[in-house]
Amino acid sequence: MHMKIIAFMKYKEMNRLQIHTKTLCFLREEIYSHYILHSERNKMYVVGFFASVLLLVAMDAAVAFPRRNLKCRKPLPSIRFNIRGDNLIDLTHNFDDHAPYWPGDPSGFELKTLFSGFVNGTVNFFSSWKFFSQPEHLGTHLDAPSHYYLNGIDVSGIDLKNLIGPGVLINLKRNGERFGPDSQISIDDIMEWEVERKIRMRSGSIVLLYTGYGDVYPDRAAYFGTNMTGEDGIPHIRFPGLSPDAARWLIDHRCIAAVGIDTASIDFGQSTDFETHRILHERNIPNFENLANLREVAESGRNFNVIALPQKIAQGTGAPLRIVAVLDKEA
Ligand SMILES: [Zn+2]
Repeated sequence: MHMKIIAFMKYKEMNRLQIHTKTLCFLREEIYSHYILHSERNKMYVVGFFASVLLLVAMDAAVAFPRRNLKCRKPLPSIRFNIRGDNLIDLTHNFDDHAPYWPGDPSGFELKTLFSGFVNGTVNFFSSWKFFSQPEHLGTHLDAPSHYYLNGIDVSGIDLKNLIGPGVLINLKRNGERFGPDSQISIDDIMEWEVERKIRMRSGSIVLLYTGYGDVYPDRAAYFGTNMTGEDGIPHIRFPGLSPDAARWLIDHRCIAAVGIDTASIDFGQSTDFETHRILHERNIPNFENLANLREVAESGRNFNVIALPQKIAQGTGAPLRIVAVLDKEA
């Protein structure tokens, strides 16, 4: 039948106006009898084949293009900053055994000395080395999109453009009080920053949320709202977080690169569905948690850029993070 089709195509090219209706009918019947009507089984194979191709294409597209606003796909604007000794603020808490770990985690930060002492050789010298271990999501850390999205990238795959960018500090403290423990930061709370300054935050911004909780770290009771550890402690966790609506708005309308907070989670403590995490991670946006010293950034009143470099853990869903604010000159 293949030959007949080729012959027909040539015939069609030679004289398009004189297509022989008998040839057309013959071809149609030939195709029907071969692939569709002749056998129900063949029909199922054909349908099954095309359905599998469509499914594979859809799965591939889902992995390659996570849900992201099209207008945010253009390259992020470049930034420029000067690093001097006096314009750096470390936004990282110390990693030590005081670091309060999530109540569901079995343990926190551990540091063991493997060797410490003087080595006798041709010269006598001191040497020391240690071994540390900790949960991925302890202390100041990064959450990778693979934390709450099946096909999300892991820590090692995060684009550096999501980790270095212009900073925006949203100060949520009111009259010296911390943001409410069961509150969620709204779109209005964030828009206040733009209204006050009469500007729109740049695309590629790294938005840092200062709730005041970072100021009481590592006091577990004040920070988590409970002293309890283990699974029993989880229902008692209370601290504020970013609302799902505001996360969606920051990504879709402000094209942010990342968002960070000075609490133990980007979702508020009482969340059970972790919707804000899921919204961020589905769109390949990483987030930072347990940030330190945001008060200093707020009090400086200066524009700043952020450099946030996590330990590059292959397949990690999170990693310890060293994060720094680089302040601009005073305006
Ligand atoms: Zn985390």
